[in-house]
Amino acid sequence: MRFLITAGPTREPIDPVRYISNRSSGKMGYAIAEAALAAGHEVTLISGPVNLVPPPGAEFISILTSDEMHGAVHWQLRGCDVLVMCAAVADYKPAKVSAQKIKKHNDTLSLELIPTRDILASLPKQDREFLVVGFAAETNDLEANAQKKLREKKCDVIVANNVSNADSGMESDVNEVTLFFQNGEKENISRAPKKIIARALVKIFSKFARKMFDKKNVMITEHD
Ligand code: C5P
Repeated sequence: MRFLITAGPTREPIDPVRYISNRSSGKMGYAIAEAALAAGHEVTLISGPVNLVPPPGAEFISILTSDEMHGAVHWQLRGCDVLVMCAAVADYKPAKVSAQKIKKHNDTLSLELIPTRDILASLPKQDREFLVVGFAAETNDLEANAQKKLREKKCDVIVANNVSNADSGMESDVNEVTLFFQNGEKENISRAPKKIIARALVKIFSKFARKMFDKKNVMITEHD
C-alpha cells in the first residue's frame, strides 16, 4: 500500500524574520512513516520544519506554510491508499505578510489572523479510494472534540491524544491515543513510546484500508 503522511508544524510568516507556529516535534508522524516502511509499505512524507532525519526509503517533501502543505497533499493524493494527517497545521495565519521587518514601537501591536485552508476538509467527500486519518490534539473534552472532528472533517478515523500532560503528547517520546471510527467504535492504545504506538497504528490503518477496498471490489463484482 502507499501511505501519504504529513508531520510536524507549519510556519505562517508575519514578516521576513517572524512567524507563527506550534510545538509539534514531528515525532509521531516520522514514527508512523518508519513503521509503515518497516511493514513493507511505500511512504511519502510531507513534513514541516522539524529536527528529525527523514526515514531512509521514504519519498520526502519539505514544506513550510499551511498553503504549501495543502498543495503538496493534493499533488501527492493520486494513488495513495492511506492518508495520515498527523501534521499540526496552523489554524490561523496573518491576514497580510509584511514585506519588511516590522519595527519595534512602545505601543501595543495587533496582528489580524485569518483561518488557514483546512486540508482535511478540502478532500473529496465521496467515492474516495483511500483511507483518511485525522489527528486531534486536545487539552480538554477529548472525546467530544474528536467526535466533532470526525463528523465535520469527514475522516474515516480520528486519532485523539491528550496534550495537557507535560509527559506525553506534543514534543514527548511517549503518547497515549484513542481511535474513533465513523461506525461509532473506539479503540484505546495505552501509554507507550511513539514508535510502538506507530506500529499499532500502521497495522490498524492497513487492515482498515484493505477491508474498505475489498468491500469496493465485492460491490463491483456484484454489479457485474
Ligand atoms: O481542527 P484541528 O486543527 O484540531 O484538526 C486537526 C486535524 O486536522 C489534523 O489531522 C490536522 O492535520 C488537520 N488540519 C488540516 N488543515 C488545517 C488544520 C488542521 O488538515 N488547516
